[in-house]
Amino acid sequence: ATLEQPKTALKNRSIRRVAVLGSGIMGSRIAAHFANIGLEVLLLDIVPQQLTPAEEAKGLTLDKPAVRNRLVNDAWQNTLKATPAALYSSKFAERVKLGNFDDNLKDIGTYDWIIEAIVERLDIKRSLYERVEQFRKEGTLITSNTSGIPMHLLAEGRSDDFRRHFCGTHFFNPPRYLRLLEIIPGPDTDSAVIDFLMKYGDLYLGKTTVLCKDTPGFIANRLGIQSLVQTIRVAEDLGLTVEEVDKLTGPVVGRPKSGTFRLSDVVGLDTTVNVANNLVKMEHDESRESFQLTASMQKLMENKWLGDKTGQGYYKKT
Ligand code: NAD
Repeated sequence: ATLEQPKTALKNRSIRRVAVLGSGIMGSRIAAHFANIGLEVLLLDIVPQQLTPAEEAKGLTLDKPAVRNRLVNDAWQNTLKATPAALYSSKFAERVKLGNFDDNLKDIGTYDWIIEAIVERLDIKRSLYERVEQFRKEGTLITSNTSGIPMHLLAEGRSDDFRRHFCGTHFFNPPRYLRLLEIIPGPDTDSAVIDFLMKYGDLYLGKTTVLCKDTPGFIANRLGIQSLVQTIRVAEDLGLTVEEVDKLTGPVVGRPKSGTFRLSDVVGLDTTVNVANNLVKMEHDESRESFQLTASMQKLMENKWLGDKTGQGYYKKT
């Protein structure tokens, strides 16, 4: 019976083209994952508001495509650098088209699935969805990679068709390797959409999908962020070093690459802090405290030492 179900769920929808909105740590890597299985991918990010000194020196202006696509270009180059060629299908990168929201959001009407992976802020995600509604074709899947913003808040104010095709698809970092994919329906998500995403994730994306309720932090981050913040707090209280903690929370306990602090650098501290702050807002009084930022987290945020993406976090990137 389990072999029959996927066919039914997948029968009425085919995915050939995927638009990924946001080319940060997650968006770029999600784009690579989809291109690797043979889909055409559009990857978009914001238009920079200022020229870099190098752009100025070259006489470039803010209206030039090289500048308008700078964020997405840089992010994609970083992803390619971090992508072991031997593990990806040949020419996968040629299937990825790069662009920016102002010039290319209009193109999403020709894509079968829109995946939003921009910064973890409700207001910013909502205003992008408003723009998405201008160009999205009815019936197109629209999913969010949010780490924990409730689906019902993200869906608020959207059209019926958007709400019926809107769902959380929460990939984990790095999305190529981590098998978990949380599927979080919103209040009005069609059951056919939920079925489709669960089956597609399992069959085509190589994931283990888990159906989640729309609760704060869903499942993995509700547990994971609490454990991350608490470990850092205990380490600070006991005066343990970053290396000591990572030795105890890394490979020796079955996490091949990342102890607590290394994981924080991989995830990006600003993202962790956004998720933790959202949980503080949504949690019951008794569990709020466990998500409060620790002294070192606050200090790193002040210094903008966010992790690998800024070259420095708890570790300096080599
Ligand atoms: P990131 O900081 O690497 O990327 C965020 C992207 O959002 C950037 O490319 C940035 O240019 C863009 N952005 C910033 N302001 C914007 C605006 N006003 N409008 C549109 N785009 C804007 O973050 P990330 O780690 O890739 O996270 C993206 C999403 O994925 C978030 O919802 C996050 O919670 C979630 N997520 C992150 C991880 C992780 O480990 N980092 C894991 C799972 C899910």
